[in-house]
Amino acid sequence: MRKDMPRHIPPASIAGGRMFTAFLIKYAEIGIKGKNRYLFEEALVQQIKYAVKRCEGEFKVTRTQGRIYVEALTEFDFDETVDNLKTVFGISGICPVVYVEDEGFEKLGQDIIKYIGEVYPGMDKTFKVNARRARKNYPLNSMEINSRIGEVLLDAYPGMRVDVHSPDIMLHIEIREKIYIYSETIPGPGGMPAGTGGKAMLLLSGGIDSPVAGYMIAKRGVKIDAVYFHAPPYTSERAKQKVVDLARLVSRYTGPVYLHVINFTDIQLYIYEKCPHDELTIIMRRYMMRIAEHIAKETECLGLITGESIGQVASQTMQSLAVTNEVCTLPVYRPLIGMDKLEIVDIAEKIDTYETSILPYEDCCTIFVAKHPVTKPNPAVIRRHEKNLEEKIEELVETALKNDELIIVR
Ligand code: ATP
Ligand code: MG
Repeated sequence: MRKDMPRHIPPASIAGGRMFTAFLIKYAEIGIKGKNRYLFEEALVQQIKYAVKRCEGEFKVTRTQGRIYVEALTEFDFDETVDNLKTVFGISGICPVVYVEDEGFEKLGQDIIKYIGEVYPGMDKTFKVNARRARKNYPLNSMEINSRIGEVLLDAYPGMRVDVHSPDIMLHIEIREKIYIYSETIPGPGGMPAGTGGKAMLLLSGGIDSPVAGYMIAKRGVKIDAVYFHAPPYTSERAKQKVVDLARLVSRYTGPVYLHVINFTDIQLYIYEKCPHDELTIIMRRYMMRIAEHIAKETECLGLITGESIGQVASQTMQSLAVTNEVCTLPVYRPLIGMDKLEIVDIAEKIDTYETSILPYEDCCTIFVAKHPVTKPNPAVIRRHEKNLEEKIEELVETALKNDELIIVR
């Protein structure tokens, strides 16, 4: 077991979190970014601040000597705070910390005994002490602290044993102005801090897939804007509200989401009037992509994101994807492309979008779907049929773009 792996105690039960007053934030991947490290850490601090703002209580987020601490300045709810920190990409581990004043070694020994007694009540565990002196004027060096605290614990808890190779409890003691004690690591979401990897435009529908797709790309540090194609009165206000709600759920991970709501009704009706019905979905999808790309380019997005997965529906066969893709010049990111529905549902449940996604409001496509949509569209044929739209489509697209309703979701 790696020494920073989560241990036997589920986070919510760490003595109810009562004694902890701070968190040490561990970050893995961003540690290797050389000169950019500063920018990554800054972005991580920003996202942590954004996350703890949602929590009860006041917090101070500080960055010192390659470490990030979240310190509670008031009473706070331990579980709520941990849950919110778990939404911050870039965090690999969250270590609940107890601070004690430096009032001499004997007092430190008592503090450690109390710490172990409260965090691991009644457990006979193996342990290892790992002391670190960030303040070199402390009278004992790290080795001395390790062995003397070890003795103190063995005296106080006869059931405990030292195991330097794979201890149940890795007890960290950091000597700073105050003394920091921690031993548990709650896993974070990993990934890179939001906004360190540019920005992309997510095509967000009310379904299960697209919120998951947005989450996955955001996990790599990409900031997310979104566009939703709304077709009133065929799609209800409630369907739109559901998309706003999904954007809000996604925004816990990504930071604020600029959601563009595009009224797609007239475009959809026009396609319905002029094109073969079995090609309706595919042609609609091409217009969605064109419009999304237009907004993306105007808002400095470097790519589009969809929730498509090969073979899931007629419009997601390899042939259909090729025909849809053809109208875009920006890269289209499809993080779910090789996943099964069940795998996607797993992630949707984990990120808490599933329950909202399955609410039964009509989405834009379901009303206009043909009984037998083409599954192997021929690009030349599709292009030819799109010519039927020449008279009015540009104007309709322009109007839709002009009436773009921007909702800032946070
Ligand atoms: P989802 O579960 O994300 O709705 P889906 O399985 O219903 O996906 P489609 O309806 O074929 O699949 O849509 C494929 C992708 O196209 C979606 O994942 C989403 O990215 C985009 N999309 C579909 N409908 C809309 C819409 N009304 N507004 C914005 N994007 C949409
Ligand atoms: Mg859908």
